[in-house]
Amino acid sequence: MAVSGASTAGKGNVPRVLRKPKFARLRRPFLHASWHGPAPFYKGGRSPNRRDSRFMTKPRFKRVLLKLSGEVLMGDQQFGIDPEFVMELAREVRAAKESGLELCLVIGGGNIFRGMAGAAKGMDRAQADYMGMLATVMNALAMQNALEQLGVDTRVQSAIQMDAVCEPVIRRRAERHLEKGRVVIFAAGVGSPYFTTDSGAALRAAEMKCDALLKGTSVDGVYDSDPKTNPGAKRYDTVGYDTVLADNLKVMDASAVALCRDNDIPIVVFSIREKGNLARVLAGEGVQTTVKGNG
Ligand code: UDP
Repeated sequence: MAVSGASTAGKGNVPRVLRKPKFARLRRPFLHASWHGPAPFYKGGRSPNRRDSRFMTKPRFKRVLLKLSGEVLMGDQQFGIDPEFVMELAREVRAAKESGLELCLVIGGGNIFRGMAGAAKGMDRAQADYMGMLATVMNALAMQNALEQLGVDTRVQSAIQMDAVCEPVIRRRAERHLEKGRVVIFAAGVGSPYFTTDSGAALRAAEMKCDALLKGTSVDGVYDSDPKTNPGAKRYDTVGYDTVLADNLKVMDASAVALCRDNDIPIVVFSIREKGNLARVLAGEGVQTTVKGNG
């Protein structure tokens, strides 16, 4: 059969127009976006809200590091990992990722083991801290599992090398993962005892040149006193690094706050326990405290 204008040279005798176009999957959304206005709502199939970043609120940051305390992985349990709750968190992370953000993750280990607690019961502090670091690797693997079940590509990089389960921390490689749209989960803190994952988060945020460090915890911001014991405690909308350090406000360890201050990285503290809060915070909405600047 002759097809007008179609070359039949090479590739057997199949006319070119009848061959499967090489970039069919790429071409259609590109045409909608550039020539035909916004992509239409598709009947059936995947909702555009889940996959199409153009339908989400524009994020105020390009690259962030999200630090989750280990205790949020417990859900309503007293200890350990609740896989259902980890999946809930992973959905929040996926939504953030799909807004076009480059995302690094650091997860604590307090749901499993804290060095200080071990030391208080007579253990050698450094030994106990190494156990705490191993706990953060377990949490990182749990989050990686949940994210990948949701179709989000991830890589775990650990500050304590363990080749069989994850990569070592290599900044340039992490950079490449982010470029490829993967979420990079940094485990084992800074890799040394006498530190915490807050310091690990500040360090990775600095070396990965993140626009902000988001700290997702069980409280909705930074208060001038403990809101659990003082019902009159006031929450800050913004507060300076030096006030946090001078007044010993419960945000992060002093070393983590100082590292963020010295590298001008805002710390956004918010509750990760409320559904949809991560997306709201990224859009500059919702309840949160930002630590930045002087004063
Ligand atoms: N840890 C450490 N060095 C690090 C990071 C963590 O020794 O760089 C240990 C430390 O014992 C800590 C534990 O790992 O208590 C778990 O981390 P963290 O307490 O920061 O977890 P979170 O409170 O965020 O759940």
